[in-house]
Amino acid sequence: MSGGTVTLDRLVSWLSRFRELVTEQQAYLTELDSAIGDADHGANMTRGMNAVMEKIGATPPGTADELFKAVGMTLVTSVGGASGPLYGTFFLRLGMTAGAVSEFTGESLSTALHAGLDGVVARGKAEAGDKTMFDAMAPALAAWDETLGGGGDTVAAASAAFTAAERGRDATEPLVARKGRASYLGERSAGHLDPGATSATLLFQALSETLKG
Ligand code: ADP
Ligand code: MG
Repeated sequence: MSGGTVTLDRLVSWLSRFRELVTEQQAYLTELDSAIGDADHGANMTRGMNAVMEKIGATPPGTADELFKAVGMTLVTSVGGASGPLYGTFFLRLGMTAGAVSEFTGESLSTALHAGLDGVVARGKAEAGDKTMFDAMAPALAAWDETLGGGGDTVAAASAAFTAAERGRDATEPLVARKGRASYLGERSAGHLDPGATSATLLFQALSETLKG
């Protein structure tokens, strides 16, 4: 791709690749969630993304607001547990902010992704270091913006975002969870990666791979 704009087709491929990655890593996500949760994160994400691709795969909506509204609503309704409403809100807010566009610039995609993250925070009240998906998403978006600000294109921005998400994910390991089910374990939640930070890293892996084309 030119590195300038990101088409909606590309973002449908992003969602499809995310579905593939959560499916491939379903057992791993579940293993992480069995250590500090209830062993359903892999199943939740796989069920949710399968439902999403079933909904949008054949004839995806032609504008970002409609596309991401469909994605968000499908996740909210098909996934029980914390992650359905949280990822659902992420995509709903992303779409609302993007509006009826059919392509993005690096900057407009950043604005939409930030709105998605703000939605996660509004819903779940997570802060940095609470050992949640926020800890992968927030540094990913900071790296995205820093790369664009330094003159990088969307491919470079997405690659930097993925690397930052991995670091944020890895940094959740020693943390004591302060939100969600894992927080019920108190100090015993330390010593494990957060499942949601791990799936959120797959979201940015999928974006980076897709934009590289
Ligand atoms: P549940 O915890 O209901 O079983 P999942 O296992 O699918 O749902 O998802 C767990 C993940 O959700 C956690 O690893 C964490 O990243 C994320 N999570 C839980 N609560 C919150 C919250 N309040 N804010 C942000 N993320 C959260
Ligand atoms: Mg769970």
